[in-house]
Amino acid sequence: MGERLTEIFGTDVFNESVMEERLPAETFQALKETIHQGKRLEPEVAEVIAQEMKKWALEHGATHYTHWFQPMTGVTAEKHDSFIAPAQKGKILLEFSSKELIKGEPDASSFPSGGLRATFEARGYTTWDCTSPAFLREDAAGVTLCIPTAFCSYTGEALDMKTPLLRSMEAINRQALRIVHLFGHKDVSRVECSVGPEQEYFLVDQKNYRKREDLIFTGRTLFGAKPPKGQEMDDHYFGSLTERVGSYMKELNLELWKLGILAKTQHNEVAPAQHELAPIYTTANMATDHNQLIMECMKKVAKRHGLECLLHEKPFAGVNGSGKHNNWSLVTDTGKNLLNPGKTPNENIQFLLFLAAVIEAVDNHADLLRLSAANPGNDQRLGADEAPPAIISIFLGEQLTDVVAQLIETGEAKHLKKEGKLHTGVSTLPTFGRDGTDRNRTSPFAFTGNKFEFRTVASSMSIADANTTLNSIVAETLERFANLLEASDNFDQAVHDLIKSSLTQHQRILFNGNGYSPEWIAEAERRGLPNLPSMVDAIPALTTEKAIRLFTRQGVLSESELRSRAEISYEIYAKAINIEARTMIDMAGTLYIPAIVRYTSELSNSINSVKAACETADVSVQTKLLIKTSSLLAEAQKALDALRKLDVKANGKTEGKEMALFFRREVCPAMEALRRPIDELEMIVDRRLWPVPTYAELLYDM
Ligand code: ADP
Ligand code: MG
Repeated sequence: MGERLTEIFGTDVFNESVMEERLPAETFQALKETIHQGKRLEPEVAEVIAQEMKKWALEHGATHYTHWFQPMTGVTAEKHDSFIAPAQKGKILLEFSSKELIKGEPDASSFPSGGLRATFEARGYTTWDCTSPAFLREDAAGVTLCIPTAFCSYTGEALDMKTPLLRSMEAINRQALRIVHLFGHKDVSRVECSVGPEQEYFLVDQKNYRKREDLIFTGRTLFGAKPPKGQEMDDHYFGSLTERVGSYMKELNLELWKLGILAKTQHNEVAPAQHELAPIYTTANMATDHNQLIMECMKKVAKRHGLECLLHEKPFAGVNGSGKHNNWSLVTDTGKNLLNPGKTPNENIQFLLFLAAVIEAVDNHADLLRLSAANPGNDQRLGADEAPPAIISIFLGEQLTDVVAQLIETGEAKHLKKEGKLHTGVSTLPTFGRDGTDRNRTSPFAFTGNKFEFRTVASSMSIADANTTLNSIVAETLERFANLLEASDNFDQAVHDLIKSSLTQHQRILFNGNGYSPEWIAEAERRGLPNLPSMVDAIPALTTEKAIRLFTRQGVLSESELRSRAEISYEIYAKAINIEARTMIDMAGTLYIPAIVRYTSELSNSINSVKAACETADVSVQTKLLIKTSSLLAEAQKALDALRKLDVKANGKTEGKEMALFFRREVCPAMEALRRPIDELEMIVDRRLWPVPTYAELLYDM
């Protein structure tokens, strides 16, 4: 397999080595300058690339091409065109020019725009993003050439997730370069942010999945009592893979490798049926595209194995949820990681300055970071069963915390807490240097050696927003730093003072303790840190004066783009909860309640027939069960009626924010009220009568 692996890797990608081989040297050089240095791409160059790309795709059996883009729905979209064009005598030509490569015109009115365009101004454009390579997708529809693109309106406003991400990468490059140059590294000409997202997911058997309307329509279970065995035995985490899951992962890896995705780590996660896949990090833009492809492949490959892949943040209440750990750092084109502390972080002033910049940025805009990881599913996950809380704070670990404390106190960090050796107490095991930081699983934003790990990010979401936000807020702080430092005539003193004052002012965001504890919620409130449990609470962060200043100044999002994004977020929330509520109404009314009624008749029949057979027989068990079941049944019916009423009421609302608030405040509690009695009944009613697979079946029947 070893050799085959290097042959397979990237076979479906029009990547740099393919281009180098196939393009004229000057074309390749020009494209490389566009990709790596952000230079403009000339039309003649694009034409040569288009022709070669077409040839390559056709050689690989492609019949269609598509502009692959990422509208605000969070998933990818595409419109396929075949390469054919009519020629004389009933024949065809295969056509594809730079025009088709560079520009597409999907009808923008079918995608969310949050009021950015009226439906009569439906025109939208997709434009080629040459920084992420084109690739082939092979499925039942044949082979398609997929061209990563950005998507914007007729008037140039971003209608997608990619455009702001690319803008934010420019922003952070601009500001980080200024700092690096101040430190004398004139050879650096570009700073990129690199991202490695770890993807968590669940696999369930397709036959069980198909019996659960809630999983089909909403991606999560809306009912379900806890199974007798959960994750308390800790026996699933890193447990050995079953044959079935193993063969799934094998095929998934193969698909991803062909797409040039560096799928690296795979293992079982904390919860039963939960797994994780992590690729090796790459630039934020590619990492985002790749993550979309990873999610797509996970779902596609699962179906081939009679499985369904659940990417929802909280498929099962009371069981560990799924997140996406977004590892983020800044790397120069000379190969230096700016967040690498080196052996003596206390003496690495440039590192400390970047560290201070991230801390200041996260403290200034904790609300925006929270929002960048918000979706309706994450509302269920955050703060529950081993997920980070909705409060954003930073974990630095013992060593760096000590360095920061010294800096705040004296402006200098004279000593370093030693890492020490790890002694296992077993002489045959090698001793090795222990990491300077231990792990803290409860922290939403943790420094992990040479990168930050943003763990709040939702498992089903694009990582674009999270990284756009991170890049923008850090760019803003770096700009402040650079302005100050460039204006000073004593650089060393100025850096020293700046690090001290910034850390002093923003130390409240640092927290190494247990993020799950209730004491932390109270403590965070005392520190003035925002606690935004729901997506709906977080959306206003996008349109505060502070946010508008940040995003417009960094050239990432205009005020109208921000307002439209807020509107879209409210709509997404309202729609998602609306579907959940309706699914519950349907399931309760047509599955659960009829099944429970049947059980009450069985109980009544039993009481009657036993009594008829023997008047003195004890029917207290049946009677008690009947009383309990009937009373919970009545409670469920009452809750169902209440939810139905709210559903009707919701229909009268049209404005996004009003709707979202209504769903959050009224509909969500009503859904809870319906779930409660039915989950309780699940533990009482005869298993044979229960209309859907239980948690135990979903999680263990694999
Ligand atoms: P963990 O200990 O959390 O499993 P890993 O070293 O396996 O950490 O890395 C997790 C993810 O972080 C991987 O995708 C990895 O490629 C990525 N990563 C490692 N270094 C960096 C970096 N400097 N910048 C961004 N991501 C990184
Ligand atoms: Mg990790």
